[in-house]
Amino acid sequence: MRRILILGGTTEARRLAERLAERRDLAVTLSLAGRTANPAAQPVPVRIGGFGGADGLAAHLATERIDALIDATHPYAAIISANAAQAAAAAGVPLLALRRPAWVAVAGDRWIEVDDAPAAVQSLGAAPRRVFLALGRNEIAAFVSAPQHFYLVRSVDPVEPPLRVPHARYVTGRGPFGQADDRALLMTHGIDIVVSKNSGGDATYGKIAAARALGVAVILLRRPALPDVAAVATIEEALAWIDLKRMDHAGAPCAEREV
Ligand code: NAP
Repeated sequence: MRRILILGGTTEARRLAERLAERRDLAVTLSLAGRTANPAAQPVPVRIGGFGGADGLAAHLATERIDALIDATHPYAAIISANAAQAAAAAGVPLLALRRPAWVAVAGDRWIEVDDAPAAVQSLGAAPRRVFLALGRNEIAAFVSAPQHFYLVRSVDPVEPPLRVPHARYVTGRGPFGQADDRALLMTHGIDIVVSKNSGGDATYGKIAAARALGVAVILLRRPALPDVAAVATIEEALAWIDLKRMDHAGAPCAEREV
């Protein structure tokens, strides 16, 4: 039985695990960083928490006798992806990255692309705006330096402590978020600009489509650089890679071995 470790925390990781869960030739474990208080249920055994850098992950791959590593983390989770590349090379374990393609602007989108959260704060300008911050806990801290704006913050877990700004509202929720609901949210709070990552995929595209429909501008944080490793964009391609590696592992295609 081959042992597969999926680095997760994304819809794609869970969907890939769902497809692999029934396979009797594979023992699949999914790894979460442990960022959310009540992580979504997963279809395979889960381990939670950091490995202790690239060296820790390489040691884990060796002690757990992992045969293949799938990096299905979020496109903005650049540290774990770099660690995965380094650890897989050090441990001699095949690595595949499952990466969502970025969203691409279509007619009607009013996008402003910036490098990071401090640059997003700058591009909001001096005049007070009504801002939907669709960002993680780490990124929203930068907006404290612009307290003149109203902020609507959406997160999985409550933001504790709240931002030290005078005008902020908080909503909690776990995606997927549809266009109709996000349009209602933007209208209810009179939002005139959205700040978001270019996450790609369907689960969080609702706000981008809603902003377009309402003529609202979107500040998008550019994606971080990710390691140059074998990568695919779909779960089907990841499944094909796993089966290809099965043949590598066995030294010959299964059909030949069965003859
Ligand atoms: P990151 O900055 O790339 O990683 C920071 C550290 O967190 C890593 O060095 C590692 O600790 C640990 N870590 C990250 N992902 C892990 C995983 N799947 N399993 C075990 N340890 C993990 O990551 P991040 O941006 O904070 O994201 C954390 C998790 O949330 C990721 O799993 C990601 O898929 C998910 N997520 C992130 C975003 C986002 O916008 N960044 C959005 C949705 C979901 P050690 O060095 O100790 O191993």
